[in-house]
Amino acid sequence: MTTPALSLPAYDRSALTPGIVHIGLGNFHRAHQAVYLDDLFALGEGHDWAIIGAGVRPADGRMREALMAQDCLSTVVELDPAGKSARRIGAMIDFLPVEPGNAALIAAMSKPEIRIVSLTVTEGGYFMDSVGRLDAGAAEIRADAANPGAPETAFGAILAALKARRDAGIIPFTVMSCDNLPGNGDVTRDVVVGLARLFDPGFADWVNANVAFPNGMVDRITPATGERERAMAAAFGLDDPVPVTCEPFRQWVLEDRFPAGRPALEKVGVIFTEHVHAYETMKIRILNGGHAIIAYPGGLMDIDLVHEAMEEPLITAFLDKVEREEIIPIVPPVPDTDLQAYYAIIRERFANPEVADTVRRLCLDGSNRQPKFIVPSIRDNRAAGRLPKGLILASALWCRYCAGVTDSGAVIAPNDPNWDELTARAQAAKADPAAWLAMRDVYGDLGEDAEVAGAFAAALEAVWARGARAVLTEYIGG
Ligand code: NAD
Repeated sequence: MTTPALSLPAYDRSALTPGIVHIGLGNFHRAHQAVYLDDLFALGEGHDWAIIGAGVRPADGRMREALMAQDCLSTVVELDPAGKSARRIGAMIDFLPVEPGNAALIAAMSKPEIRIVSLTVTEGGYFMDSVGRLDAGAAEIRADAANPGAPETAFGAILAALKARRDAGIIPFTVMSCDNLPGNGDVTRDVVVGLARLFDPGFADWVNANVAFPNGMVDRITPATGERERAMAAAFGLDDPVPVTCEPFRQWVLEDRFPAGRPALEKVGVIFTEHVHAYETMKIRILNGGHAIIAYPGGLMDIDLVHEAMEEPLITAFLDKVEREEIIPIVPPVPDTDLQAYYAIIRERFANPEVADTVRRLCLDGSNRQPKFIVPSIRDNRAAGRLPKGLILASALWCRYCAGVTDSGAVIAPNDPNWDELTARAQAAKADPAAWLAMRDVYGDLGEDAEVAGAFAAALEAVWARGARAVLTEYIGG
């Protein structure tokens, strides 16, 4: 058997100098930002923008050990159904020690050559309360406010470095969030400035006035790494304990607000625009909303993998009808983008068998996802005078799933941080559907809309009485 082709960095890594510190060296960063920079360096450009890896969690210490042992090279396997390819990404040149108090991280970010600090610390890593403001009561935030010189959070470390730079007369770096949050730059500003305000209000004002936090939309499906993924790297002749696999598609849309400069990422496909919000809305409603539409019927039908759900004609017909009739018509226009074509690509991405994403992962955390991905589309339809029965059915299927058994009677393991509460409520909603819509943190006042409440009750009763298969058949035929 021949070993498939592997591409190596097409530039002299020893000539790279750092420009970016990235906090949260998980899989997504290495499949996304690091790949764009690798492409740029291969064009012979931007060699003063290499990445220094960093992290504030124990898992990052383990990643550091693994990456330092392979000269900070990452394996990225692209899961093209027509044939996999792999590359070694060389954009990262060092990884800072992961340690309590984060002294090495603060020292690195204080150096003038670092002009961007980027982040992927997960959606939950932003210490936001239920209305999207900094949760000042969170233990780690309280600890950093009490001891800003030896912070535990990424945001505390950013503030310590910004203060050192201000005191030394060095221009602040730009803080670039690459997490999957609507308005991720604005959220990061709120958290960083909010934390500073807890211990030094004057400094908080300075940060607010002087530091840029561009918003960005990021997209590339990047599964977690397990034995399957390590075996894929091995097929390319690589003994890498921490390879990354990802779909071929990638997208990055950014606001062009980088006062200390930035790499010329537009040369490698990054879109710079003032309309990030429009791209974000499109992605959240069509892609993330699409995931939420296929997840729960898939779960109720005992389907394990996302591409298998996409092979079930009832599920794809359900997805197509809801996207085309109830989502795409209410997504505001996006520059240079045909929404139907965008959806057609998403459909192909969901169907990619190589990604092997799980239905269970898509079903996870509905109590956080429904209010972001489904409920706003229901609202916009109502504002346009329409009753979106498919979206309401999608939400009823989530409720039915939370009752904790599939249509065949198989038990569903807890799959939400609020699982116990959701399960109790879903059981109660079987007799009283209004109990489900009464969750105001998910539905707001939508439960008071009699037509929505009626459609929800009818959908939920039908799913309980006849199962997901029959209800999807009826919806598609209707
Ligand atoms: P991962 O589990 O591989 O890595 C997560 C990283 O976040 C680790 O470095 C971890 O230490 C760090 N982290 C977690 N909680 C933290 C906290 N409270 N404070 C500081 N650091 C923390 O996950 P990933 O696949 O790299 O995804 C990370 C994020 O990237 C996602 O949450 C999402 O916002 C974004 N993203 C991921 C994908 C994807 O398909 N994986 C796609 C688009 C966007």
